[in-house]
Amino acid sequence: MWHPCTQMKQLEATPPLAIARGEGPWLIDTEGRRYLDAISSWWVNLFGHCNPRINAAITDQLGKIEHVMLAGATHEPVVELSERLAKLTGLGHAFYGSDGASATEIALKMSAHYWRNAGQPEKNGFISLKNGYHGETVGALSVTDIPLFKTTYEPLLRHTVQVPTPDARLAEAGETAEAYALRCAVALEVHLAEHASTTAAFIVEPLVQGAAGMAMYHPAYLTRARELCDRYRVHLIADEIAVGFGRTGTMFACEQAALFQQAGTHAEIAPPSRSRRSAPAESGGSVSCRGGSKFGCEQGSHPPPNPLPSREGGCAQTEPAPAGSPANHGDGTPSPLEGWTETARISSADYGAPSPLRGEGWGEGDDPPNRVSRIADFICLSKGITGGYLPLSAVLTTDDIYAAFYDDATARGFLHSHSYTGNPLACRAALAVLDIFEHDNVIAANRVKALDFTRILGEVAAHTRVRHFRHLGMIWAFDVADAAPGFSTRFHQAALALGAFIRPVGHTVYVMPPYVTSADEMRALADAMLLCLDNTEI
Ligand SMILES: *Cc1c(COP(=O)(O)O)cnc(C)c1O
Repeated sequence: MWHPCTQMKQLEATPPLAIARGEGPWLIDTEGRRYLDAISSWWVNLFGHCNPRINAAITDQLGKIEHVMLAGATHEPVVELSERLAKLTGLGHAFYGSDGASATEIALKMSAHYWRNAGQPEKNGFISLKNGYHGETVGALSVTDIPLFKTTYEPLLRHTVQVPTPDARLAEAGETAEAYALRCAVALEVHLAEHASTTAAFIVEPLVQGAAGMAMYHPAYLTRARELCDRYRVHLIADEIAVGFGRTGTMFACEQAALFQQAGTHAEIAPPSRSRRSAPAESGGSVSCRGGSKFGCEQGSHPPPNPLPSREGGCAQTEPAPAGSPANHGDGTPSPLEGWTETARISSADYGAPSPLRGEGWGEGDDPPNRVSRIADFICLSKGITGGYLPLSAVLTTDDIYAAFYDDATARGFLHSHSYTGNPLACRAALAVLDIFEHDNVIAANRVKALDFTRILGEVAAHTRVRHFRHLGMIWAFDVADAAPGFSTRFHQAALALGAFIRPVGHTVYVMPPYVTSADEMRALADAMLLCLDNTEI
């Protein structure tokens, strides 16, 4: 068994947990020891392990049809799922894949193919954010910007452009998250102004760059990016593989940008030259290479969280962090937290609009103000889509894009396929997940729960080693100021011994628990993290 994103030799010192069972947010190993799954098994689990309602849906489907190919055949679960996802997003055409990376591939191919069909085949380039993550197959890796995953395979990859990340930790002292986001959008505009004619799409993780270490940013960035993509005729691909299905406090993260846009709280686009501060350079603003195997627990080493050169090899990028970067707050000076407060406030209060899942506020034909389609031309969904049960991904897109493929000529169609596309068992799990969202009013319930959890984590946020404590929806994260190389593995092991399954990304510790986690369980998690933080050997 060759484990994913793992230097196998290191498993000799730290063997993998042998999990026999799951129960709600708990993982139970073969010895009967219990671990709180604080990161939802790589961000996929929503409603706990062995959820009776999802189990029942899959069991029911097993007695009907387990799988049928989706070319030339169809089935009820995939049709119902497509209709419900269309209703939730405003994007009415669903193409299915099997995992997140394949969804990225589908969106990239579809976008470039659209421009080809539209008579502009030269529009085939892609833009993504610095420190972004979109999966690790060759096409998806081309738009990913995590050196540890990418550098080795560079000769295999297509050249793409990374624009500055609006990661609010990089805001200058006194600069709000919103102002910094808009300053980054200027850099996006500068690039588009020159290269739009050869650019197919801008792909982005809305609001939270997960693999970068839960980097959070203001929705104004997405709102502005939408305007720029319209102006320069470039597609916007929202990669909601990690943040979709309620993680950021709304069903989809793009909804917050749509609501922000509707609130009309931002100014007209200013020409680049008129902006007060200059736009970050395309190569600047890096907080990448915090080391680590996928989503935490470095197998190798990572640079120290201050602007010193890396003390160890293993990281490709050792350039000092720019002024105002989180790294520069690692010396004990308190970092400006206003950005985070702002981000959190937006998700929990001002934009606490009615959820389309509850059907509040509009009728059948209305266009809800928080439609994903107001922001994105494509949305990529996976991870939480089946509640963490079965591999499934979907790319949803607009009527306009769909129409460009609809033709007598076969080759103008989207000739892409995966064997397990739209698997009925996976679709039933996804439908059960949507039922739970609707029936239990999960988005609203999570808002209350998140306030409570943030309170519970107050002592963690105030810990002397903690910097940039941040929160959005059902994600909490912070950076550890004095984390030495190997921090992630040591923290992971120490937390495991305390019954918590946590995998820091470099010097960022985060929790992203299943929504069924209770306040008592969160308290236990907070206590475990405090014990780990108190131990300066970690
Ligand atoms: C996890 C993830 C992917 C890749 O999904 P896989 O199922 O692991 O291939 C792509 N984009 C984002 C934002 C992710 O978090």
